Order: sequence, then C-alpha cells, then structure tokens
Amino acid sequence: MKRLFTDGEKIKEICKTYPTPFHLYDEKGIREGVRRLKAAFSWNEDFQEYFAVKACPNPFLLKIMQAEGCGVDCSSYTELMIAEKLGFHGEDIMFSSNVTPAQDFQYARKLESIINLDDFSHIDFLAQNGGIPELICLRYNPGGDFRINGSIMGNPGDAKYGMTGAQIREAVKKLSKMGAKRFGIHAFLASNMLNPDYYPSLAAILFELIVTLHQETGATFEFVNLSGGIGIPYKPEDKPQDLEYIGAKVKEAYDRIIVPSPVKKLGIKTELGRYMTGSHGILVTKVIHEKKTCKDYIGVDACAVDLMRPAMYGAYHHITVLGKEEAPCNHTYDVTGGLCENNDKFAIDRNLPEIEIGDILAIHDTGAHGYAMGYNYNGKLKSAELLLKEDGSVQMIRRAETPKDYFATFDFCDILQ
Ligand SMILES: *Cc1c(COP(=O)(O)O)cnc(C)c1O
Repeated sequence: MKRLFTDGEKIKEICKTYPTPFHLYDEKGIREGVRRLKAAFSWNEDFQEYFAVKACPNPFLLKIMQAEGCGVDCSSYTELMIAEKLGFHGEDIMFSSNVTPAQDFQYARKLESIINLDDFSHIDFLAQNGGIPELICLRYNPGGDFRINGSIMGNPGDAKYGMTGAQIREAVKKLSKMGAKRFGIHAFLASNMLNPDYYPSLAAILFELIVTLHQETGATFEFVNLSGGIGIPYKPEDKPQDLEYIGAKVKEAYDRIIVPSPVKKLGIKTELGRYMTGSHGILVTKVIHEKKTCKDYIGVDACAVDLMRPAMYGAYHHITVLGKEEAPCNHTYDVTGGLCENNDKFAIDRNLPEIEIGDILAIHDTGAHGYAMGYNYNGKLKSAELLLKEDGSVQMIRRAETPKDYFATFDFCDILQ
C-alpha cells in the first residue's frame, strides 16, 4: 500500500485555505532525499548533484536544493535565468542542452557554467557563440541497445542525444587545440530506472571510455556525469531505490577501473530530477462530477494541464481518496479531467473506494515532470504550487494562473481589451 507524505486530514485542512487543484510538495522528504544521495556518494570527494531544473522549475524548491549543497542542471535560456537569479554561478551550473540556440550558449558561457556539449558540430558553434571554455563536458551515446545482464533497458541507438565514441575522441582532440584543458563525460541511457544496477553499469561504461580516451589523447579528465534516470516507485508494487547499494556499486566500478588506471581520480556528478522531487509532490484535486455511461467516470477539477504523464506516457499515478484510505477498493472508475481529449484520464479502470462528489483525491508522485510539463490546452489554467514546510506550515510557492496570465501574450495590442 502506498502512503502519502502527510495525512489526509492535513490535506483537507489545506484545501480550506487554498482552492483545488494544487501541487503540494514535502520539504522534509526533499531534504532527506538529497542527504541520502550525498551520503551514498560521500566516498567520492568531488561528488556533486546538479538538480535537473526541468523536473520542477520552482525557485523556492531550487533554494532548498541550493541550501542542501546541490548545483543545477539547466537546458534552456529561462532555466539559466532562474539559476542566475538564485545566485548559482560557474561550476554550480551544468548546462545540458541539445539543439541549442546561439543565445543560450552565450548566456551559459557568461555565467561560466559547465557546458555539456551534445554534438561534435556544436564545437565550432560554441566557439562562435560564447567561446570554448577550459572545462567542458561531452555527451556520449554508445548507440545500439543498452543492456544490463542481457535485458534491454534503453535504446541509445534511437536517441537524438550525444556523440559516438569516435566523435568524442575527435572532439577531445579538437577542443584541446582550441583551449579546453579539463574534460567531463556524460551519458543518459535510460529513464525512470528501477534497476539499481543502472548507475553502476553506466559508470563502468563511462570509466572505461575515459581510461581509453586518456590513453589515446593524453587529455585530463576530471569527472563523469551520470545524469538523471534513477526511478521512483510509482506503482504500489515498485520498490524505492536503494541509494546505498547504488553508491557502493559505483564505487566498486571506480576502484576496479579508475583507481589502478593512469586517470587515478574522477569526480562523480549526477543530474537527477525524478529521484529528487518526484515522490515528494502530490496533485490535490476535488471530484466535481460523476458520470455513468458505458463506464463510471469521476470528473475532477484538475486535468492533463496539471499532470500530463498519464496522457502522454500512459503512466501510472497512484490515487488516494482522502478519508477513505481504509475503505475497500470495490468500485472501478476512470478518473478524468475536463480537456476535450479522451486521453485526459488520470486513471483508467482503477479500483478505488466508492467516490462521491466533493471528495478530495491525492494523485501521488507528481513532484517531478508534473507541474513542469503542463500546458494551456483548451484555455485551461495551471494550478498553484504549495510547500509543506518542515515545521508543518504551508507556503504558497506559485500562485495559480489567472485569465490575465493566459491573455498576457496579447498585451502588445488591444484586441481583447
Ligand atoms: C531530463 C534530464 C535529466 C533528469 O532526468 P530524471 O529522469 O528526472 O532523473 C537529467 N539530465 C538531462 C540532460 C535530462 O534531459
């Protein structure tokens, strides 16, 4: 059985002050997660997590990450703007973009962030737009299938990201001639991984690559960037990831490959998003309709605008009906939002307790790629974000959108005045 990070009564209390729908984040859980990650990699003195801003780009949450010692992983101009405003600078920022506009590279260079270069052709593009830095990271794509113990975990051969091994070797040589002196290597081969051997397998691939590249080019390698990809238990039967096991297994690969090699020493960097905030957020929504046709539909005041993962990926998000936590799940419902899109369903054929109009539902695990992915289809407005602080108080950390926000892009004219 999946539990919420706070009890149903508390959430109902919050609904008295803040209208539904809203995302609610758990400060305590977020802080504990960062600490656990850092402890798991404390054997590596240069370990650094760069929180993937795109997972939950709220400045209040980024402040918490900052206080816990994290950097940020940005991928766009506006994400860099948030980072700059919050005082992230230089090697606190990893800029992992792709199909990068010129102005984004220029901005990232102005902030002296670490550039994570997606393609060989971007070397000249970066040279013309910001210049080649002394420290630079290169994104690797090994192609083919990515397997762990024979099972396919991802398909890098189909992914648009990164460079081939041969391109990386040429990139290191070319960049060295252009003034780069220290290198990092990055790869992101599979997402939402519940296999604890993902990071260890990826680390081993990147460690081997670095030892070879160092032998071939003589370049100095400073870090590996294992990127994101650690999964969270969305389904009741999923198990939370064992960070201690992951950290220890990466260390095993490090001791086996890096320590006895001429490279000797590397920093470990991560760009986790989902692991950092995913389980520490919920979407709270109220039941406004029940409809019985060929199926039983529960209509709620949130929709795919607030959480797109079910519509986009068919993703499972657990649902708790507040106050009915112990009631038998003897009804089968589709839980739907109000978009004119039949895939606007938070759950399909889900067994839940009997639901009445006015019930409050908590949709679990919306803290990453939840609010952030939202859009304004059907003129629907995006919800507020609230923070449940460690002392039990609640702070609004983003207000809900109003029609004025929706119409703001017509402020250059008076057509809607
Ligand atoms: C999305 C992304 C991440 C974060 O991935 P999670 O699955 O949320 O951990 C990290 N790095 C890059 C480059 C990404 O695109």
